[in-house]
Amino acid sequence: MKPILKIAAGSIAVGVLVFAGKMLAAKVSGSTALFSDALEALVNVASSALALCALIIGAKPADEVHNYGHAKAELLSAVATGAMILLAALLIFHRAALALWHPQGLAALESGLGLGLVLNAVAGGVNAVWGLVLRHYGRKDRSPALLADAQHLFSDVLTSLGIVIALLVADWLRMPRLDPVIALVIAAQIAVMGWHTVMRSISGLLDEAPPPEITERIHNLVRERASGAIEAHDLRIRQAGHASFLEFHLVVPGEMTVNESHAICDRIEAALKAEMDGVIITIHVEPPEKAKREGVLVP
Ligand code: ZN
Ligand code: ZN
Repeated sequence: MKPILKIAAGSIAVGVLVFAGKMLAAKVSGSTALFSDALEALVNVASSALALCALIIGAKPADEVHNYGHAKAELLSAVATGAMILLAALLIFHRAALALWHPQGLAALESGLGLGLVLNAVAGGVNAVWGLVLRHYGRKDRSPALLADAQHLFSDVLTSLGIVIALLVADWLRMPRLDPVIALVIAAQIAVMGWHTVMRSISGLLDEAPPPEITERIHNLVRERASGAIEAHDLRIRQAGHASFLEFHLVVPGEMTVNESHAICDRIEAALKAEMDGVIITIHVEPPEKAKREGVLVP
């Protein structure tokens, strides 16, 4: 099993453990806030399972039906995860509104509530550690699915922390209504996080260009390696998860042989592939009449 698949499978196991801990915390304390936190943990298990599917599908090589590979499956999974974070926010909004309407007496701190808070905090700690692991591997492998999963775990840690603090304060002030009020604030914060996850992944699905500094670097590499050619124009780059595609037109002198122009293309491709791991490059060779005097001008 590949390390990244092990990570995704680990997410599911950790998710089940955290869900069980939070559900137990809700049961012993009788708290609505802790119960909604447990429900939110259940969303994690589902999104981790989705991320695992995306990694397996995303790693499949190109085939006759999907000529450009399956890397976009990762972005699709990240969109679905973002949607689930939004759903969890909605769920907390709903619970908090209900609790605000019918405030329940919280269990006393020295009996059920204390144990519930400790259990919830331990589960939150497990989530935080696993979130850091996911973020590390997500950045290393440029996997939007893993990064979205890590983001979700961090939002859960904040939720748990907010709920524990809210319940402590509510118990101390003997004001059960405080707990749903703070839960509403946390739900808003989670909703923003879910929205960003969805929008970022949708941008990737729409063939997002790399940031300007990377485009600049690519232009410089082409300029350095294209000696013998006249210019390179219509450069287009798109990224889908861990895969990236680059294409451009290369204007060469009309009398240049196919062998000579192909040698220039190979030189540029070698330099770009050394820079961008696994990039797929297509170069269209053109005579001088096609020059646009824009893009990359070769000195
Ligand atoms: Zn052209
Ligand atoms: Zn070739």
